[in-house]
Amino acid sequence: MAVIGTWFAAGTALACGTNPDLFFAESPQDVARAKELCAGCPVRAACLTGALQRGEPWGVWGGELLLRGTIVPTKRARGRPRKSEMAA
Ligand code: SF4
Repeated sequence: MAVIGTWFAAGTALACGTNPDLFFAESPQDVARAKELCAGCPVRAACLTGALQRGEPWGVWGGELLLRGTIVPTKRARGRPRKSEMAA
């Protein structure tokens, strides 16, 4: 991730650098906010590519939510799945 490292070294403030917890949040609202912040990031594409290559276990990277190295649309809430989810 030389590209991202260069931005950090130059003192460029990336959204994830100023509020890193938001990018590993549990709530869907916080995950959505992190995705929004990534939208304007100058290293978004490189960030996502690197995260996929590393198989990041979780978090918002490059504007996408990753779980176990794969892009997922949303994070499932904690707890037992609803019966309607299990029937599908
Ligand atoms: S795209 Fe990557 S580097 Fe940019 S704010 Fe999002 S998580 Fe941070």
